[in-house]
Amino acid sequence: MKCASCGEKIPELFLEKLQGTYLVKGKKKVPICSVCQQKYTMEELQKKYL
Ligand SMILES: [Zn+2]
Repeated sequence: MKCASCGEKIPELFLEKLQGTYLVKGKKKVPICSVCQQKYTMEELQKKYL
């Protein structure tokens, strides 16, 4: 799984939990890593990638 913002691979933890989050809109699901989560607000990320 790659971050939609920086393109870095998001490391997976067990139980398929990502170190990051998803932006979700309907059926669209965009992964965002924890670094970008801290760099930008969720609003900014949603505007950019959803
Ligand atoms: Zn990122």
